[in-house]
Amino acid sequence: MLNFFKNKRELFIRCDNCGYTTKVTKELFAKILGATTVFLGYKAWVGFLFAGTGFAMAICIAICFGGIGLLAYGKEVVEWLNKKYPCPQCQAKTWNTFEASDLELMKQKEQEESMKAFFGGDNTVVYFDEKIRSAFEAGIKNASTEIAIAVPFIKKYIISDTVIFQDTLKSLLIDALNRGVKVKILYGIRYNKDDNKDLLEARNTMTELYSELHPLYKNLYIQEGNVHTKVAIFDKKYMLVGSFNYLSFGGHYTQYTRKEATNAHYESKRICPYYQEYFTFG
Ligand SMILES: [Zn+2]
Repeated sequence: MLNFFKNKRELFIRCDNCGYTTKVTKELFAKILGATTVFLGYKAWVGFLFAGTGFAMAICIAICFGGIGLLAYGKEVVEWLNKKYPCPQCQAKTWNTFEASDLELMKQKEQEESMKAFFGGDNTVVYFDEKIRSAFEAGIKNASTEIAIAVPFIKKYIISDTVIFQDTLKSLLIDALNRGVKVKILYGIRYNKDDNKDLLEARNTMTELYSELHPLYKNLYIQEGNVHTKVAIFDKKYMLVGSFNYLSFGGHYTQYTRKEATNAHYESKRICPYYQEYFTFG
């Protein structure tokens, strides 16, 4: 799981040219040095690395142990690899070192990049769990005319704090408003005629956002309603609809986190009915 991966501090190398990524292990060095021998003991491994690489003994020992000790020698390792080891995928010698946690972030960023093709898509795609968050944020980043979001629940920290990526949702919305994109938010759920805790929290968060941003951005529209639907439509061309609540759940997953599923649709025949039902205001 993601969380487990994040907690492990290990050294990886990644090809700058094609993105090929591999963990730095003693076996990797054996492969590069063309060794066919199976090294059984720790001392034999250190001796082999020392003789074969010319690294200082401390680095050879760190390579044998891996983990956090090796991170300190990332620079030396990558300099050596850039001389000796062409990328198995593209033959470039442009390695860079990363920790597991950096790689996870980069993978997500790359996913976002690839989502730039979204708006030209034509088939329904389903996203599960943490992938939904990147699909949603990619929609916000790539929208050029309108972002329309309808959700029952809103939590303030999801709007104003960093939840998964480096940007806050608020800053992404401001970027969109600055691009001249119309932003519409329909929020709120009622259980009976009285106001409830969930509704009040959503209302307070939206009132605050509106009073801060509306003086600057007339292209922001916020409306209270009574919805349990979770839908986001970007440029009327790309729609996410499913169980994931974009404005009350950060999308950070551990082994205990509930499952969520969201469909991404591109066909206007599917998008139009949702738009007509929820977003005719503003
Ligand atoms: Zn490569």
